[in-house]
Amino acid sequence: MKIDFKNNKIIEALDNAIFPRNITCLICGHDIFDDNPYLMCENCQKKGLIVNGRVCKKCGASLFSNSSYCYRCQKENFYFDRAISVFYYEAEIIRNIKQFKFEGFSALKKSFAKSLAYCYIVNNLTADYILYVPLYISKEKKRGYNQSKLLAHELAKLINLPVLDDVLVKIVNNESQVGKTLKERQENVKNVYSVKDKEKIKGKRILIIDDVLSTGSTLNACAKVLKSCKCESVIALTYAQPRLKIDKYFEKCQLKGLKTFGKISKVLYTKF
Ligand SMILES: [Zn+2]
Ligand SMILES: [Zn+2]
Repeated sequence: MKIDFKNNKIIEALDNAIFPRNITCLICGHDIFDDNPYLMCENCQKKGLIVNGRVCKKCGASLFSNSSYCYRCQKENFYFDRAISVFYYEAEIIRNIKQFKFEGFSALKKSFAKSLAYCYIVNNLTADYILYVPLYISKEKKRGYNQSKLLAHELAKLINLPVLDDVLVKIVNNESQVGKTLKERQENVKNVYSVKDKEKIKGKRILIIDDVLSTGSTLNACAKVLKSCKCESVIALTYAQPRLKIDKYFEKCQLKGLKTFGKISKVLYTKF
């Protein structure tokens, strides 16, 4: 009998028992001995980086009122049905994302995907296909990879769903969203995404992956083209999103008579 050593679960388990993997905390680097989905030591899990508590049922923003939806989602409508993130986009998490995104830290993709898979399962999300936010072809070639594609494929192995490559594509090489206000971001992603195989996603439930959701403009633009192809639902799953006290800012804006979110968005979002 020929044994497939590479894919043999028993051999893998034995290997792990005899040579335990050296798992270290993503945040502080200390050894961790339990296989928790966030790959954080007990101390770092208490730092409040994991999204918890009440979040907007639509965009996943932290809620500070009794409503089920944040102020923005009560006023505007995202095309995605729901967005959900694992972590808050804060110092330690930002460092990991930058390592993953710009330094090609591919070892991080496994731990990122593991926490995404956990988030998918505990939130009872369902999907037929996994898609990811595409990069413009020349940008992907220059970087050598698309971090969201890496995450999507790694996640797919864990939750056993197929990834659709090259179905959602970026057709315009737009400017980076960094430093732009909400309105500028919305404009910047207008008509930059397209769906290649519309029939493939018709009537299907889509899970779309990205590393960070900030204003939601990018994922919203992707969801818009996906919905125009009559897919059943679009759920956005991201590694991190900012812990913005969006409701509080909106309340302040209302009180001060500022009518648009754009006027304060520069303060809120320019750091991304
Ligand atoms: Zn730690
Ligand atoms: Zn919301």
